[in-house]
Amino acid sequence: MKPFSYVRATSLREATAAHARLPGSRYLAGGTNLVDLMKLGVENPAALVDISGLPLADIELLPAGTLRIGATARNSDVAAHPLVRAHHPALAQALLAGASAQLRNAATTGGNLLQRTRCPYFQDVSAPCNKRDPGSGCAARDGVHRDHAVLGHSEHCVATHPSDMAVALAALDADIELYGETGTRTVPATAFHRLPGERPEQDTVIGDGEIVTAVLLPAAAPGAVSLYRKARERASYAFALVSVAVVLDLDPAARRVRRVALAFGGLAHRPWRAATAEERLTGAEPTAEAVREAVDAELAQARPLRDNAHKITLARNLACDALATLARRAQDGRPSTP
Ligand SMILES: Cc1cc2nc3c(=O)[nH]c(=O)nc-3n(C[C@H](O)[C@H](O)[C@H](O)COP(=O)(O)OP(=O)(O)OC[C@H]3O[C@@H](n4cnc5c(N)ncnc54)[C@H](O)[C@@H]3O)c2cc1C
Ligand code: SF4
Repeated sequence: MKPFSYVRATSLREATAAHARLPGSRYLAGGTNLVDLMKLGVENPAALVDISGLPLADIELLPAGTLRIGATARNSDVAAHPLVRAHHPALAQALLAGASAQLRNAATTGGNLLQRTRCPYFQDVSAPCNKRDPGSGCAARDGVHRDHAVLGHSEHCVATHPSDMAVALAALDADIELYGETGTRTVPATAFHRLPGERPEQDTVIGDGEIVTAVLLPAAAPGAVSLYRKARERASYAFALVSVAVVLDLDPAARRVRRVALAFGGLAHRPWRAATAEERLTGAEPTAEAVREAVDAELAQARPLRDNAHKITLARNLACDALATLARRAQDGRPSTP
């Protein structure tokens, strides 16, 4: 066990000041990822700044219909919240598809967004890994990479982002609110996580010492339906091989798509918003053929590694099924239920 110091912050200002004062410090929320990585020797913080007691756990409806979810709101509380279940079922479903009940009771909204990849080489300090040890190489590229990326990867890293919640947030057009020494800013969820490029050690665009303070969900369009689907090795306690979050706003009389948002998980270093598929489907009748063509056009960009081409088939089937299910629900005027 490496020694580290511990500070419990009681305000945002105190937290960022402690982070700036203590070089090599990390924020601690639920600890379900950070503490595991400390035990493995992947993370070696000199100090932990505990932010779990900050008054950031509220889930509140703002005047314009935006739902504000505080960064220390527990995953279980967000999934069970009546407004989340009623207006953003894809988010509730994504949260309930992740981890276990015990973990969801401890895990926070901010920590979930900032959890690290589950690439086994990242977690094995004896293996080369550019994300953990920049410049050391990537053991996964020619190693075991069944679960790795098929979209947006680079020669430096082929890892995927593990969060289910982040995929739903990308499809729901959420914003991430951040607080730092220079004030507050918001970043679209779709731009919060990065592709690896030449800097795989940077998972997100968060600045040094910045704290995630909230997630902001815009009001759902009347009649829009949403859904999260996840394919995994076993029915619980497993990360996504591939997942999909869909929000569909259908004109039931004309049977035309007014608006669709489609995001994939498990395919890339960040939730993958399927802009090409969305563009093809907007204004179209969502027939099985149109959906299949749109999804195929999106996945044509995929560059599978030696052993993970199966993810493309899985993604295609999951997305086509989710879109067909939502089109039926929208046509029948049935809301999605978590
Ligand atoms: C066995 C197991 C199975 C799991 N299965 C799934 C799964 O299927 N799907 C899934 O999505 N997740 C899964 N998880 C991951 C789990 O969801 C995360 O561990 C959890 O969400 C992290 O939240 P936390 O509050 O515990 O974060 P912590 O461990 O406290 O922190 C994680 C990281 O975020 C930083 N951080 C935390 N909060 C903030 C903030 N507000 N601002 C800035 N930085 C912050 C910390 O410094 C740290 O780097 C699983 C975890 C385990 C252990
Ligand atoms: S895929 Fe990324 S996280 Fe995994 S070994 Fe390669 S560099 Fe490290």
